[in-house]
Amino acid sequence: MLSTVVTAAYIVAALLFILSLAGLSKHESARHGSWFGIAGMAIALLATITLVIDGVYSGPGSAADAGKWGLGVLVVTMALGGSIGVRIARRVEMTGMPELIAMMHSFVGLAAVLVGFNSFLGAHGDSPQAVAEHERLEAMDMVGIHNGEVFVGVFIGAVTLTGSVVAYLKLSAKMKSSPLVLPMRHWLNLAAVLVSVALGAWFVISPSLVPLVLMTLIALAFGWHLVASIGGGDMPVVISMLNSYSGWAAAAAGFMLSNDLLIVTGALVGSSGAFLSYIMCKAMNRSFISVIAGGFGSDGQVTGGGDEDYGEHREIQADAVAEMLADASSVVIAPGYGMAVAQAQYPVADLTAQLRAKGVDVRFAIHPVAGRLPGHMNVLLAEAKVPYDVVLEMDEINEDFPATDVVLVIGANDTVNPSAAEDPSSPIAGMPVLEVWNAKEVIVFKRSMATGYAGVQNPLFFKENTQMLFGDAKERVGDILKVL
Ligand code: NDP
Repeated sequence: MLSTVVTAAYIVAALLFILSLAGLSKHESARHGSWFGIAGMAIALLATITLVIDGVYSGPGSAADAGKWGLGVLVVTMALGGSIGVRIARRVEMTGMPELIAMMHSFVGLAAVLVGFNSFLGAHGDSPQAVAEHERLEAMDMVGIHNGEVFVGVFIGAVTLTGSVVAYLKLSAKMKSSPLVLPMRHWLNLAAVLVSVALGAWFVISPSLVPLVLMTLIALAFGWHLVASIGGGDMPVVISMLNSYSGWAAAAAGFMLSNDLLIVTGALVGSSGAFLSYIMCKAMNRSFISVIAGGFGSDGQVTGGGDEDYGEHREIQADAVAEMLADASSVVIAPGYGMAVAQAQYPVADLTAQLRAKGVDVRFAIHPVAGRLPGHMNVLLAEAKVPYDVVLEMDEINEDFPATDVVLVIGANDTVNPSAAEDPSSPIAGMPVLEVWNAKEVIVFKRSMATGYAGVQNPLFFKENTQMLFGDAKERVGDILKVL
């Protein structure tokens, strides 16, 4: 009876997760999407806690003891984890979200590794429970399959764990964002995969801790190397790829725990993450396979950031920009990571409203990898209540720049860099960018002449129709608002 109720609850939760993903795919329905997700997770947690109370997940002693034991562990760990999670989530700035997400992915990887080892030891030890579990699997002729699940789950989990830690270090600038180029790096990756396959065969034929531990060490190194060898501009794809891996790691854990909901949820995260990676690769004109194979096909050399002489840049002050905007009939705003850092979305929304009230046509140009998260700019602008219909994707607006009077580049750099289109030796060569330089006037808001995330100098700053407005983006937009 209980297991039927729990299964029904899991089906409802799975449906809610699917509705959540569907809702999150559009601005208008994103809020509902979040609520579906929260409701699904609440139902899933309740159902799982009920199972634990019933003693289904075994601990030492009888089923009743197991229930009490399991519940005690669950309450303590949930209280501990929940309070740490709430503290971190309250404290984190929007700009710190990508790092936080990378960190969370590493926990999913770690969980899959631990579940894998636990699952193996739980069916291969000398204890009465392990012997009983082994007999149960043998009766179903499932020992080989179970070992295969354990091996694959631990492999994916270990790759996700160290890969996500490297992504965290790169995003938080604790490690250089440029690619690590070891000699024969692709052969190293191939060797890691082949040796792991061989260890997998050994493990399935004669299960023991030796091949499992060896493979875990190799997978940890492999995950580290895979992400370390991916360069600055390709990081967005890495984030969504690790998101996908964490989903597959969760699905593998679901198989090991015979938990259908975890399998479904993991598959949803895994496949949507893979699809997002594919979309981001297309947007950046990169080959999906080459990025996930650790930058395969690129020589990993970072050039174009050097000492080339681009000429002099020109500066402008806020009052002159205000005048320029008041005289313009069409304005495009290209926001980037700097807008998020400065939290300038609110004054930018006010500026938009003021100019629109004066009859100026104001639109936003959103690059697919602007900021540090897929959809980062859309979230910030929605937060500041900028109307959705003036927020356009790169492909929708790129052709309109020649007919635009003024472009305001607010804290964007790599995503408006003409060398992506003009310099084949640039690390971001081939990445489509917002062609803002085709407009009549370009104003760049930033604090200095420093490079962006990919570490590449930007020739846009030295073009004849470009002027730099130095300072914090929020303060400078505020200054313009005062004059207007
Ligand atoms: P960039 O990171 O290229 O540049 C941001 C610019 O903002 C910097 O040049 C900086 O210049 C300026 N800035 C920082 N703080 C402020 C401030 N307070 N006021 C004004 N300006 C400020 O940004 P883009 O959005 O153009 O490009 C995103 C980059 O991040 C791409 O290379 C992308 O590949 C990468 N990336 C994207 C991810 C995603 O999913 N979207 C994930 C991981 C990486 P200064 O210091 O002089 O002020």
